[in-house]
Amino acid sequence: MEKKKVILNAIRKNQPISRTRLKEITDIRPGTITDLVKTLKEDNFLIEEGKEKSLRGRKQSLLKINGERYFAIGLEFDAERIIALLVNLNNEIKAKKETEIGEDKEKETIIEKIVLVASSLSQRIPSEKLLGLGIADPGVVKSKEGISFFSSLIPNWENVPLGKILNERLKIPVKLISAPQAKTLAEFRLGTGKNIENLLFIEFGPGIACGVISEGRLLRGHNEMAGELGHTHISENGAICGCGSYGCLEAIASLPAIAKKVKEAIAAGSKSLIENSEDGEVTPSQIFEAASKGDKLCLNILNESANYLGSGIANTINLFNPEMVIFDQRMALCGEFFLEEIKRVIKRQSLRFATSSLKFAVSSLGEEAGPLGAATLILDEFFKK
Ligand SMILES: [Zn+2]
Repeated sequence: MEKKKVILNAIRKNQPISRTRLKEITDIRPGTITDLVKTLKEDNFLIEEGKEKSLRGRKQSLLKINGERYFAIGLEFDAERIIALLVNLNNEIKAKKETEIGEDKEKETIIEKIVLVASSLSQRIPSEKLLGLGIADPGVVKSKEGISFFSSLIPNWENVPLGKILNERLKIPVKLISAPQAKTLAEFRLGTGKNIENLLFIEFGPGIACGVISEGRLLRGHNEMAGELGHTHISENGAICGCGSYGCLEAIASLPAIAKKVKEAIAAGSKSLIENSEDGEVTPSQIFEAASKGDKLCLNILNESANYLGSGIANTINLFNPEMVIFDQRMALCGEFFLEEIKRVIKRQSLRFATSSLKFAVSSLGEEAGPLGAATLILDEFFKK
């Protein structure tokens, strides 16, 4: 049984793979590998796909996990919308479903929408093939108890037994993880950071957070709150933060903080291309557009935000010594100069030896990272057993 698990996991990580290579990786005797592969094929867990590309000798056929054997659903929600994916054992996306939350942000309404989205995806496959539902949560979770503990983004969202509720409604196992951690896991398994064992992912949007892969493991933390980069203290006289403190990175450099600063500067008489907005509200996309046209005010405020972000990320790099930093796609939307400024500050503020071989990348998974990471939790559980 143990060896079967070793073989399945080695194939999962290295597929498609030949039997010879499997032997090198697992150190299991060739005869045992042949037997176990045969059983796994009979049980429909493995398929053969193509032949290896070798110039000499007999070409071996390659083994792959039979993706369609089982499925999982990964779902991410926040105060604005729900995105869910049906993925197979190989993490391949088979279906996608999205819903806007709308004006009504009552707890019951949001839960009802989550149930609807998840069950519409679950109906696409026979129920015995569905392993479970992974949830990428916008706030703090207690995953063992299945509790969505707190989110500053959704009013009155506290101590919600989301795991239990969804399990009762959908009759499948449910697992919770914080959204930044889910995204980091997805980048590590499937994205730009695939198999990079020391990895830092920076989430940027309504909030700021990071995820850390250290020596091949996702850091979750004692209270599953590892990676709260947004609440690191960065400015002595900074704005009040949603967490109750002040001067947090999130309160001075997140997208809402940037929009607030632009709005206030315009109200105080600063010149800007977005001077005449009708309701006085300023959106991030207006700011990006104005900045791309050379608007001084927007460029200055974005630049200031990049500076703070660079300092916060540099501190994190000094703590965890990653090989690669992956930026949220939303950071690239701010403009090329924004990322360049962040990288400049990182190089200035981090130890030289830590940055000399440091790689930078922008997420390749985008909005699917959260649900993919959440589904990965369910798949990992399966491969552990
Ligand atoms: Zn804070």
